[in-house]
Amino acid sequence: MSESTRGLMERIDAVRARIAQAAGLAGRQASDVTLVSVSKTVDRATMNAAYDAGLTSFGENRVPDARAKFAEPMPSDVRLHLIGQLQTNKAGHAVDLFDLIESVDRASLVAELQKQGERRDHSIAVLLQVNVAGEDQKAGCTVDEVDELVAAIRRAANLDLRGLMTIAPLVDEMETTRPVFAGLRSLRDDLVTRYPGLTLPILSMGMSNDLEIAIQEGATHVRVGRAIFG
Ligand SMILES: *Cc1c(COP(=O)(O)O)cnc(C)c1O
Repeated sequence: MSESTRGLMERIDAVRARIAQAAGLAGRQASDVTLVSVSKTVDRATMNAAYDAGLTSFGENRVPDARAKFAEPMPSDVRLHLIGQLQTNKAGHAVDLFDLIESVDRASLVAELQKQGERRDHSIAVLLQVNVAGEDQKAGCTVDEVDELVAAIRRAANLDLRGLMTIAPLVDEMETTRPVFAGLRSLRDDLVTRYPGLTLPILSMGMSNDLEIAIQEGATHVRVGRAIFG
């Protein structure tokens, strides 16, 4: 085994241990939290090594990069998540490549994804990305836009709204992110109460530096890049 593969396996083990400990402290099962390894900074060979080490969910943030990386498909048990902002003109490629589009944030994108889903006659799993922190340059819809976007996605016959996603501000003190994660969770709980039949099982929140807080606040998916890939 190469030195770099050994390092990768150690970092994956360390992240898994952090997830297990945080879940345990929160009275949750580690298996309730999916580790989405964010592979946007690494090449396909490194992804293959990560797969061999047991990772099966990967997050990418750019459609053109993903098209190049996955020209040769990943094994069939791999789930690919799009976590970066999606331009409307790349929606078709995104639908062909990804199993879950986490970054749905505006009505024009909902309409385009619906068109692509209808054309392929299949259902597209999506998350609504919410800018809970209200940061200026951050992606995601505002909290005020959530209702109309949820309604639009629910009207789109080929879109399957699975949950919510947010990115917390990058801060030194990770406790600062807690209200953001708690805010996404209460948004979800509120939507589920108000829309009969809506379940929203997925809460995608937490990254390398704050995954423990996110898990305490109910994250079902954590998106981890640097802590795995360096
Ligand atoms: C890059 C990225 C991550 C991973 O962040 P790390 O700090 O490297 O763990 C998670 N989510 C999104 C949306 C990202 O773009």
